[in-house]
Amino acid sequence: MHEATVARNIIEVIESEISIANCKKIYSVKLRIGELSGIYPESLEYYFYELSKNTILENAKLYFEKAPIKVKCTACSAEFEIQNLDYDCPNCKSSQYHIIGGDELEIINMEVE
Ligand SMILES: [Zn+2]
Repeated sequence: MHEATVARNIIEVIESEISIANCKKIYSVKLRIGELSGIYPESLEYYFYELSKNTILENAKLYFEKAPIKVKCTACSAEFEIQNLDYDCPNCKSSQYHIIGGDELEIINMEVE
């Protein structure tokens, strides 16, 4: 049910922004979702459609962009993205790192009237 909360938050954020911009209809919303966010796009889409009924977002299409996991090597401070679950630093081959990105959920853009 995590996605239901997330969908509701997205709708609330957009509605508050839109009332300032004074637009009538939203056609699409593009979201950036980190691989570590634990959000399933299909599930989020479902709740978004259900919860946006009778709002300015009704029938708006959701688009998703995946954000990769980003880490910083603790040995050499190199920052890199994780690909194919390979966590070794490409610079010094260390496997010590901390995560600096990949859990984000952001609204990137919207198509409005
Ligand atoms: Zn390194």
